[in-house]
Amino acid sequence: MVKTDDKLNELKTRMQEVGDLNSAGAVLSWDQSTYMPAGGAPARGRQMAILGRIAQEKFIDPAVGKLLDDLQPYADSLPYDDDNAALIRATRRSYDKATKVPPAFLAEYYEHAAHAYQVWTEARPANDFKKVQPLLEKTLDMSRQLANFFPGYEHIADPLIDFADYGMKAASVRKVFSELREQLVPLVQTITAQAAADDSCLKQHFPEDKQLEFGRMVIQKFGYDFNRGRQDKTHHPFETKFSIGDVRITTRVKENDLGEALFSTTHESGHAMYEQGVDPSYEASPLDGGTSAGVHESQSRTWENIVSRSRPFWEHFYPELQKTFPKQLDKVSLDTFYRAINKVQRSLIRTDADEVTYNLHVMIRFELELQMLEGTLAIKDLPKAWHAAYKSDIGITAPSDVDGCLQDVHWFGGQIGGMFQGYTLGNILSAQFYAEALKAHPEIKKEIGQGKFETLHTWLKDNIYRYGSKYTAPELIERVTGRGLDIAPYIQYLRAKYGELYKL
Ligand code: ZN
Repeated sequence: MVKTDDKLNELKTRMQEVGDLNSAGAVLSWDQSTYMPAGGAPARGRQMAILGRIAQEKFIDPAVGKLLDDLQPYADSLPYDDDNAALIRATRRSYDKATKVPPAFLAEYYEHAAHAYQVWTEARPANDFKKVQPLLEKTLDMSRQLANFFPGYEHIADPLIDFADYGMKAASVRKVFSELREQLVPLVQTITAQAAADDSCLKQHFPEDKQLEFGRMVIQKFGYDFNRGRQDKTHHPFETKFSIGDVRITTRVKENDLGEALFSTTHESGHAMYEQGVDPSYEASPLDGGTSAGVHESQSRTWENIVSRSRPFWEHFYPELQKTFPKQLDKVSLDTFYRAINKVQRSLIRTDADEVTYNLHVMIRFELELQMLEGTLAIKDLPKAWHAAYKSDIGITAPSDVDGCLQDVHWFGGQIGGMFQGYTLGNILSAQFYAEALKAHPEIKKEIGQGKFETLHTWLKDNIYRYGSKYTAPELIERVTGRGLDIAPYIQYLRAKYGELYKL
């Protein structure tokens, strides 16, 4: 037994070193996106690359594989729910994946991704798809290579989807998406046939400091702990974690658009509360961190959409918002404001899309990814295919590629495949989890109307946050809801909310 303890401790120490190196890299990356002067870029890229490489080398060390082999009988002897069993299981899963990808490939892949990203930042404002086309061709080629390190798949996208949303495959995502689409398309048609909501009240001048102050007040009430986090400004809002005691968020403020900072703040706070809520004993281990892209996004969407775009929420907070911006909002009714923040429209930009149309944007990207990987869509034809998909699915066409296939960073700073499904899985799951929270605590709705969030926050902590990556996403969904991924609660949520708004 002593021997087993020694081995377990060695595994934990090694994993902690890997975790700490990755967190140190995250600090550098956070700094790069917030405060670093432009002159720091070349050295910073180098510094992050070396930290990442050392972490990777330490992780794929054959000694780790040997420890995992030696510890397997011990893991098998433990109950499935035991933390040590889960730690060994999760480490084994990541180790088996990581060791299949040759380090030389990975180095080339990261270098290429950094280069492609750099070129994209120039090509996008210039509407110059041709400039990134050869790089994107290489990205596609490398994405295929990456998938092929995991032979035996049904669809070439499967291994890439599995990285982000363990347990999902192209076929299972396609099935869920087509069911959802069937419900969403008529809903979008019915709503957009009506006169669009007037959201001009959000487009006045709102001073930055007051916007930030209001957002901070809201997320503090949600339960985001500023003693274990902070908020800074950036270009593209994100959440990042250095330890369970330091989970940061970023936002961007538009003084002529009240929704931008407010909803990116509530969104990122949801990601951050998930990370702040992980069991402290998992610190810097493979269990420390959200379990999948979809589950992570479900937590941000819960606070951004289900809570902070709801009527009860604003029945409580709108008077405070009016007090913060009396000149701008004194004459704007709660009803007008509520309709403005939930305006549904056919639009071109995914990140600006409303709750009802958002998933259509995701589905377009997901299908294009599959086609590119299958080889049925060549990169040179991507802009045309993009515009055609928008025309047929959303009903509008972008005037250029800036608001077309050049809009999202994902393919230009990472791989093609597995990058988008998590957003829609997250939307679906947010409603599925929330329905369970309401079953356990029907008072949550009333409490939101009183500006109280402790019951909801505690339920999420107890049922989701604390487990980190102890359970895989399919396991967690089953444990929390008693069944697999289910679109019904999400459809119900959308129908109830938008049915009332648009008198459907
Ligand atoms: Zn998110």
